[in-house]
Amino acid sequence: MIVMKFGGTSVEDASALCNVAQIVAARRYLKPLVVLSACAGVTNVLIKTAHDAAAGNKKEAMKGFAALQERHNTIAEELLGPESHRAKEVFESDFAELRQLVHGLSILNELTPRALDQIVAHGERWSSRLLSLFLLRERIPAEYVDARTVMITGNEFTKAAPLFDIIQEKAEKILQPLLDEGKIIVTQGFIGATKEGITTTIGRGGSDYSASIFGAVSNADEIQIWTDVDGFLTADPKIVSDARRIKEMTFTEAAELAYFGAKVLHPSTILPAVQKSIPVRVLNSRRPEGEGTLITNTAPAYPGCVVKSVAYKKGITVIGIQSTRMLMAHGFLARVFEVFERYKKSVDVVVTSEVGVSLTVDTEADVEAIEAELARFADVKVEKNKVVFCVVGERMKLTKGVAARVFHALAESGVNVELISQGGSEINLTFVVDESDVEKTVRALHREFFSDNYDEAGLVDEIPE
Ligand code: ADP
Ligand code: ASP
Ligand code: MG
Repeated sequence: MIVMKFGGTSVEDASALCNVAQIVAARRYLKPLVVLSACAGVTNVLIKTAHDAAAGNKKEAMKGFAALQERHNTIAEELLGPESHRAKEVFESDFAELRQLVHGLSILNELTPRALDQIVAHGERWSSRLLSLFLLRERIPAEYVDARTVMITGNEFTKAAPLFDIIQEKAEKILQPLLDEGKIIVTQGFIGATKEGITTTIGRGGSDYSASIFGAVSNADEIQIWTDVDGFLTADPKIVSDARRIKEMTFTEAAELAYFGAKVLHPSTILPAVQKSIPVRVLNSRRPEGEGTLITNTAPAYPGCVVKSVAYKKGITVIGIQSTRMLMAHGFLARVFEVFERYKKSVDVVVTSEVGVSLTVDTEADVEAIEAELARFADVKVEKNKVVFCVVGERMKLTKGVAARVFHALAESGVNVELISQGGSEINLTFVVDESDVEKTVRALHREFFSDNYDEAGLVDEIPE
């Protein structure tokens, strides 16, 4: 069997959903389990509407839900014709409940993460309801499965951690018999429930992660992530219009890039796939005939290909910690990291010298408190609005001169590099620049490594005429 996950833009309206149904039907012989995101933009609207309600802005919240209901009803009518009433009845009952919640929240004047999850988790249920009804109408044996019966998580609302052992048990009990019967399961990404049955979500963009977990617990032959671009590209196509498709990459390369901001894959997606050695393929639902990008344990080493792709993460804070006492003193770093540990703050990049250590964190939360604690034993400098860049490729460790090419290209473009780290994972070079230099940096690196005369390796697509 295979898992096929379709992101928001792939299910944005009736024609997109119809296209998804065709893609799924054409792969019926592979026994697909389909995982859907909410229709494009719906999660954002649900979050905003929930906040409006809790802020006492009842009129705005009611308007938000009414517009969502109308959007889903319209899709139902266009997709299902006379049978749309089956979807519309489900929607009406959900929206009646949501309207009730608006009153409750506006009285309480508070939006708990638990209430937020309860609201937000509707989006993927609506899109998957629409697809499963459409498949049935097309005489394809679809089975709607509420992911909350299988995707059991902890109670960390809005970022709940999936509990693998229980999910495995549930999958064997609930999903396997349906697959054995030849059903095409249609379920939701992103949402889950605690052991007690309280609705949770697993973090923004988390449908990729859900797909990978469903794949791992069902021993899938492949996990397919269907999105709105041709695959994993050499850079974000929103910045580099001629970014090119990477044919194959390793799990490690994909994990580094996803972690450092390549939005095409949620950073947690790779882990369940690696554990079961299941290939992940990124595909374009608008061009289903394309090959996409295949991510495996052992992508072939193309001799000419050194750098595979470039990713970046914005909103980074750099914390510089200096102490003359660090010189020759043991235990200094332990003391520094103990502070971060206490605030459960994860650190992305670390660079040390004789008298100091610089590191990056990716949210501003608790930074002031951490700064105050560090200031007790060191000089601390905090710089916000930075970007951490990551240049990735398995062959970088074997190739001389990559760093020189990176920094020469940046110098030529007038980009100031503030912090450099290489060797953590052997396959990446990481550095920090100012947020105002993001576009310049991506373009300079792309020009250097993926310019027209590149492609000795046949790794990326032919350059279009
Ligand atoms: P979905 O809704 O299908 O999950 P996302 O918006 O989460 O889609 O991810 C796809 C987007 O990721 C693309 O439209 C593209 O702009 C962005 N992206 C960023 N970096 C890359 C990259 N290296 N390769 C491909 N896409 C990328
Ligand atoms: N709909 C969710 C979000 O927008 C999950 C996803 O699409 O992956 O974050
Ligand atoms: Mg996504």
